[in-house]
Amino acid sequence: MNRLWESALNDIKARISEENFETWFAPIEFRDQRDDLLVLAIPNKFYADWIDSHYLATLLESIKQNANKALSIEWIVDDRLQEASLKQHEPSAPPPPAPPRRATPTPNIRQRSSLNPKYSFDNFVVGPSNQLGYAASMSAASGNGKRGNPLFIYGGVGLGKTHLVNAVGHRFLSSKQNARVLYLSAECFTNEFIWSLQNGEMDAFRNRYRNECDLLLMDDIQFLAGREQTQEEFFHTFNALYHLDKQIVVTSDVPPKQISGMQERLISRFQWGLVADIQAPELDTRIAILRTKAQQENIILNDDVALFIGQSVKSNVRELEGTLLRLAVKADLLHRSIDLDFAKESLRSLLPSAEQATTVEDIQKAACEYFGIKLSELKSHRRHRAIALPRMIAMYLCRQRLGTSFPELGERFGGKDHTTVMSAVRKITKNVDTDAMVRDAVENIERKLGL
Ligand code: ADP
Ligand code: MG
Repeated sequence: MNRLWESALNDIKARISEENFETWFAPIEFRDQRDDLLVLAIPNKFYADWIDSHYLATLLESIKQNANKALSIEWIVDDRLQEASLKQHEPSAPPPPAPPRRATPTPNIRQRSSLNPKYSFDNFVVGPSNQLGYAASMSAASGNGKRGNPLFIYGGVGLGKTHLVNAVGHRFLSSKQNARVLYLSAECFTNEFIWSLQNGEMDAFRNRYRNECDLLLMDDIQFLAGREQTQEEFFHTFNALYHLDKQIVVTSDVPPKQISGMQERLISRFQWGLVADIQAPELDTRIAILRTKAQQENIILNDDVALFIGQSVKSNVRELEGTLLRLAVKADLLHRSIDLDFAKESLRSLLPSAEQATTVEDIQKAACEYFGIKLSELKSHRRHRAIALPRMIAMYLCRQRLGTSFPELGERFGGKDHTTVMSAVRKITKNVDTDAMVRDAVENIERKLGL
């Protein structure tokens, strides 16, 4: 079997119930992997429909985590698999799912196992960058913080949002054994909603989300941007749960107001409770995360190596972990121990891209060089276009390429308000397509940095 598919399957297995895994994923056969495409064979088309509408987000996310990039999926129907799975199920096991759609019951999505068992509060490293998100999550998990309802957690990619939300679910369940916890991504919610609409299952859908749920954990809510009908449904789900005093936790990659294409009334509801951000971790936290991960994975990690990796990978915890794991795999293969020399010689090729090595300062310097201005000018409050434009472009690049938060960028650019940074980024985002001079500058600076 293909290694990527194997590890993605493992991940999925940990995230959904055994029964659903056996029904939906076990019969899938890996066929091919080319470029950004994974070709998978299934017994009949119904599998593809069902997986697309119920597990697509889980599937794509697991693949992405294991491949370190997003891949799309092509389903091919292979009748022989149908026969194989029929044989396997004879004589006493129930027949496998067959095309008449309505005949198949909606799977029980209330299982605890939809939470990822890997993500708990115990293995979440707390530092200044995520302290607020952590404390707010703990409070949400205790289920008695009315003021913290809803809890809205936002932050860049790979900074621990999904980890925290899952931890909330586990903690909540550990104190309330029979509680009904729903964890899912907004994408999954959307798919289920659409499927339920098309299949006349809206009553069941509403019942599940509005009446049979004690804690709703909705990951990556920004996915709802521009999806009017799903937003409408989510709005009513939110209201129903809120009025029943059920805790709601939502995550997003940007603060509520910045989710473009989101209804005002939803944005305002997201701000009713507590809005907490997660920033990229500081060096000490990065080192602590590396130590925790090394311990979990039985990797011997010396202090100097931890420091070196921590200094090299800055903006994303997932990459931080990934780098450590790849280093360990390589050391295993070559029968080497992970000492500083080995880490140094390996890391260049192991780092996912130049982005990881690039810092805010690098971008600032490169922008100054390109435009021929001084760093002090870039960070000043001068509004002359000759200074303001390089500043805005540098802010834009930091945001796009490093995912640095708006407040942090404000600070790093000489103490500006985060709204100033936001409007700069928005402006350049717009101009980069229409203004050749801006586009040239962006491309040149990127090239200079090897981005
Ligand atoms: P996000 O949902 O924000 O993109 P994730 O929650 O998926 O990020 O986190 C990416 C990876 O980094 C996960 O494996 C997670 O366990 C790990 N991680 C992130 N923050 C921390 C932390 N503070 N302590 C330990 N692990 C962390
Ligand atoms: Mg996530």
